Amino acid sequence: MESAKSAAALVEPCQTNSARRLTEDDSLRVSVLSEALPYIQRFSGRRIVIKYGGAAMAHANLQEAVFRDLALLVSVGVEPVVVHGGGPEINQWLERLEIPAQFRDGLRVTDADTMDVVEMVLVGRVNKQIVNGLNQLGAKAVGLSGSDGSLVEARPWGDGSHGLVGDVARVNTDVLEPILAKGYVPVISSVAATVEGCSHNINADTVAGEIAAALQAEKLILLTDTPGILLDRDDPSSLVHQLRLSEARQLITEGVVTGGMTPKTECCIRALAQGVGAAHIIDGRVPHALLLEVFTDAGIGTMVVGRS
Ligand code: ADP
Ligand code: MG
Repeated sequence: MESAKSAAALVEPCQTNSARRLTEDDSLRVSVLSEALPYIQRFSGRRIVIKYGGAAMAHANLQEAVFRDLALLVSVGVEPVVVHGGGPEINQWLERLEIPAQFRDGLRVTDADTMDVVEMVLVGRVNKQIVNGLNQLGAKAVGLSGSDGSLVEARPWGDGSHGLVGDVARVNTDVLEPILAKGYVPVISSVAATVEGCSHNINADTVAGEIAAALQAEKLILLTDTPGILLDRDDPSSLVHQLRLSEARQLITEGVVTGGMTPKTECCIRALAQGVGAAHIIDGRVPHALLLEVFTDAGIGTMVVGRS
């Protein structure tokens, strides 16, 4: 509110000489830009790791909004790193090929045929759609999978009963440094090989969290299809705006956080414990959710903070 007032005060003297009076709309635009200034100054030159997937990927208009937000971040000097999933598109292709999709513990059970489809869809199709979309808006994007430059080393997840589902064994960000230094946006699909060279399907939230930790990113932002962590999944007003690490762990143990929200909450915890500045779970169905999170005082979604 304060910044809205000061922006209006700033433009006031110009109005008398202006051909038209400024509308409320104009003042709002100016105040929004003005509010963004401290955030632009704070995040310029900093790295923000963004997990893009789910709802924000499902509709063309939301996709376009995410690409525009990323292009804007780049143009004000932020270094975004995009990690993406692609569940709905994988499901479509599995259906076409008549391979049943199975989920357990919020993870896709992945046999060899499913893995082929996951790799082709994520690395070949979804990755290039994102790269093309960003390039069209002038953000120079480079597509990678976890295997490129041995960025991510995979290991089988849990006891191996989920098939070719992987976890992150190690991250080596060497390949990202020259890409980021040249102003390119790395776009990373969540497929990576084990030391034996066997491709595994890793939850994209997990990959994003570990890359954020390895880069010591300023922020980790996970775009999803709910307003954030809800105490009651059927009640959007039960959104938890902010929670500490210990509280996040408790929500998992108590079973409030389940399914796909579990790897999200876990990766926020791990990223923060390893030095990432802040971790956010936000609603990818809201157009420009990314800008709202990074550049406004209010922020949106659930923020997990490091102090426990
Ligand atoms: P994404 O494609 O973004 O990874 P997921 O389906 O994997 O989305 O994870 C998000 C889902 O987690 C939500 O749609 C919701 O069904 C589920 N979920 C489980 N527990 C919660 C919770 N406490 N608050 C919000 N969502 C939850
Ligand atoms: Mg998920």
